[in-house]
Amino acid sequence: MKPKVYITRKLPEGVVTKLSERFEVNMYEDENSVVPRDILLKEVKDVDGLICLLTDKIDQELLEQAKNLKIIANIAVGYNNIDVNAAAQKGIVVTNTPGVLTEATADLTFALLMATARRLPEASSYLRRGEWGTWSLMQMTGQEIYGSTIGIIGLGRIAEALVKRAKGFNMRVIYYNRTRKTDKEAELGIEYCELNSLLQQSDFVSILIPYSPEVHHLIGEKELLLMKKDAILINTARGGLVDEVALYEALAKGQIWGAGLDVFEEEPVPSDHPLLTLPNVVTLPHIGSSTVKTRMKMASLAVDNIVNVLEGKSPLTPVN
Ligand code: NAP
Repeated sequence: MKPKVYITRKLPEGVVTKLSERFEVNMYEDENSVVPRDILLKEVKDVDGLICLLTDKIDQELLEQAKNLKIIANIAVGYNNIDVNAAAQKGIVVTNTPGVLTEATADLTFALLMATARRLPEASSYLRRGEWGTWSLMQMTGQEIYGSTIGIIGLGRIAEALVKRAKGFNMRVIYYNRTRKTDKEAELGIEYCELNSLLQQSDFVSILIPYSPEVHHLIGEKELLLMKKDAILINTARGGLVDEVALYEALAKGQIWGAGLDVFEEEPVPSDHPLLTLPNVVTLPHIGSSTVKTRMKMASLAVDNIVNVLEGKSPLTPVN
């Protein structure tokens, strides 16, 4: 009997072939919707491997059902959708997709920073609405990027890649990380700061740490009040790191100048979300790693993790 693998979302054919050559593969055939919970719970009952996305909640209830499960391969670097401790207790390997999405996500983070600072979506809609009467001196003025100060919260893979982009724009880079990385300070030409000091000094604050309950609402009312009035907050990590109610207040009252958000506390964002009503917020539908090449690499890495573990080898990128 071949080991069984379930995939929670339709993946490109080329990626799935490597699995179907070896295992009995079953896949939720819709590309654009989350597998319903009841179907997922039924499907995992006798599978050996599971490939899932960050939209799938892999919790204790699910793990109780999955008696044969040996590996959960998440197609994302963040894995806050999975109860990793509960999986570890059951001897189930959890893998993610670090590294392969670093450059694409750093690109998107910098693109979002630029789009927010220079009001690109707002300026484009203004032109399309036919409101561009004439050129005027202070029309659609944004914030200067070149030579400004960026404060990065976290100094992992994506943050490091972002530093390189920021240096290309002659930015002063300060960072906060739970462990100070003095070797990186010299290598990258960056300075360490405590969080509050970083918030006070930065023209741009970029959040790039994983989400966990310990850092829920890391950026809330108190932190936003520390930021400069003309500062911009960029979140391409996870929505739960920012208190969105406090952020709305800070933006609406002009306590900070703008925000660029790729991630939200609730995803997909409800269409009546207050943040969507503000002109000084640029919003994206969680597309940090979304390039054709990167998404293919992420799916392939998840597949390779499944193959390795189900063939008795070590996982390539385990998180537990
Ligand atoms: P990484 O290499 O693991 O880096 C994470 C960094 O955050 C590490 O330097 C870590 O410090 C630091 N950190 C962790 N917890 C912290 C805390 N409580 N306080 C301060 N620093 C803390 O991860 P990565 O590959 O750069 O990815 C970062 C995050 O980006 C992911 O977890 C994911 O949520 C998000 N992401 C989003 C998208 C998107 O589509 N928008 C795409 C990819 C990733 P240590 O060195 O002490 O461990």
